[in-house]
Amino acid sequence: MLEGCTPWPQDVAARYRDDGHWRGESLVDLLDTAVTAYGSRTALVQDDVRITYTELGLRTRRAAAGFRARGIEAGDRVVVQLPNGPEFVIVCFALFRLGALPVFALPAHRSQEITHLCAQSGAVGYVFPRSHHGFDHTALARRVRDEVTGLKHLFMSGKGKPADGDMVPLAEVDADPVELPAPGPADVAFFLLSGGTTALPKLIPRTHDDYVYQTRAARAAGPVDGGDVYLAVLPVEFNFTWGCPGIVGTLAVGGTVVLAQDPTPERCFPLIEQEGVTFTSVVPSVLQLWLEAAEWHDADLGSLHFLQVGSAKLYPEVAARVEPAFGCRLQQVFGMAEGLLTFTRESDAADTVLTTQGRPVSPADEIRIVDEEGRTLPAGGIGELLARGPYTLRGYYRAPEHNGRSFTDDGFYRSGDLARLTPEGNLVIEGRIKDVIIRGGDKVSAAEVEGHLLALSSVARAAVVPYPDEYLGERTCAFLVPVDRPPVLAEIKVALEQRGLAAYKLPDRVAIVAELPLTGLGKTDKKVLAAIARGERVPASTAFLPVAAAVHAAVPDAG
Ligand code: AMP
Repeated sequence: MLEGCTPWPQDVAARYRDDGHWRGESLVDLLDTAVTAYGSRTALVQDDVRITYTELGLRTRRAAAGFRARGIEAGDRVVVQLPNGPEFVIVCFALFRLGALPVFALPAHRSQEITHLCAQSGAVGYVFPRSHHGFDHTALARRVRDEVTGLKHLFMSGKGKPADGDMVPLAEVDADPVELPAPGPADVAFFLLSGGTTALPKLIPRTHDDYVYQTRAARAAGPVDGGDVYLAVLPVEFNFTWGCPGIVGTLAVGGTVVLAQDPTPERCFPLIEQEGVTFTSVVPSVLQLWLEAAEWHDADLGSLHFLQVGSAKLYPEVAARVEPAFGCRLQQVFGMAEGLLTFTRESDAADTVLTTQGRPVSPADEIRIVDEEGRTLPAGGIGELLARGPYTLRGYYRAPEHNGRSFTDDGFYRSGDLARLTPEGNLVIEGRIKDVIIRGGDKVSAAEVEGHLLALSSVARAAVVPYPDEYLGERTCAFLVPVDRPPVLAEIKVALEQRGLAAYKLPDRVAIVAELPLTGLGKTDKKVLAAIARGERVPASTAFLPVAAAVHAAVPDAG
């Protein structure tokens, strides 16, 4: 395995192979098998572009040869940041063919994140769009190139010649196919990003074996087959969209993947009707928009068999509206880029589908619910969810110190989520321990935003907490102790944007306080702040009342 990654112990890997979970198949094999079996079927659709399996196979071969001719080699890391479209799929499979490793960046990422991803992965290449949603990515690429030594290759997608001579148009990454050594099934295929607690995202190595298996297990739990048409609504770089079973799982069985550039019902509902979409995956905030639109939109959504909803908490009252609104089944999904996936199933009772996040997709998934001391709780107890299994990582890339905290000695991943298991073995997510705001499906690390706030000359101290929001589930409130004149929200947003922070990480509210409340151990008391941000009265007995009073005055005006 690539240096800096943590392999599964040999005996465990052997068991996963013996039990038929890991079949020695790479993602390249997965695509080539599909190309042979389903050549003339439509693999990818975007607007007027329709790509058959045969064409997809050929284009990935040509792009692989093109990347090689431009100097990308096996083992190289390449950060890929592209909007939803066939190009993302072609670039990734081309890199898989080469044995080069895509690092999945989100379209919303800006210089902070991209610089970090390039540096942390040791990337030699960066693939980006000329511009997206009005943002000039070439300027971003220039900045990253200047900051990251070792980043040599810039590939720009989009029409026209790039302004800079050293940026290569993606369309010119094309050459006659060449024979390439196949990547090994145990090799790392690509990197997903953690939505975790550290200041910047950690890299999650996913091997061919583990990801091919994940998509197969998720497909069986769907279920999804060659007759299915999947609509990729959320960013393609999300694990949810890419492989739960998503794009990869659908392509493996000869289905069709339709790519939507944005998740609005105005864009997606007509696509569902035109393309006969049978399933898709959304976050609860997108679901809310769709539920509202279903009341007036006249598109025929009758082709939908099921709708996967996950990545953030789905309330039972909202869940109950899915079937009446869309005439299709709801599938709740708990997932994480680190691995473990749980789904509700077609055969589940209605109550299970509405109130739980279902069962693991693999019989080899191991779940433990533990207390603060790491002891397994009695059945039904609420504690931290730990996971281990054939597609759950054993370590982040190049993060030995963090790995020491994130994994138990026997290899379980500590999710930071609070959960319980029902007597039937269904998982219910009850909250979380980790310091993350789940804003829509986007994960915002409080530590990251606090670090940027503290770097501003106007801010002496900062703490970031979630507050509830009808649409996004949660939004971000920044409690600030000012140095002098209290900054207003707009100033803070502009300053953080200038620091290159992605828009979804900017605070939605700012509350100015004289001091931050502290716990008995002298740490910022985020429980108190979160309660205040929720609009709760803090008991008069706490020492924080003056702060609470100040905040109550500040919060309503600040947004
Ligand atoms: P990511 O790796 O970005 O997909 O984030 C994974 C995290 O999202 C999990 O650890 C949970 O905190 C959260 N999450 C995912 N699915 C759900 C769900 N169905 N309900 C509540 N939280 C979820």
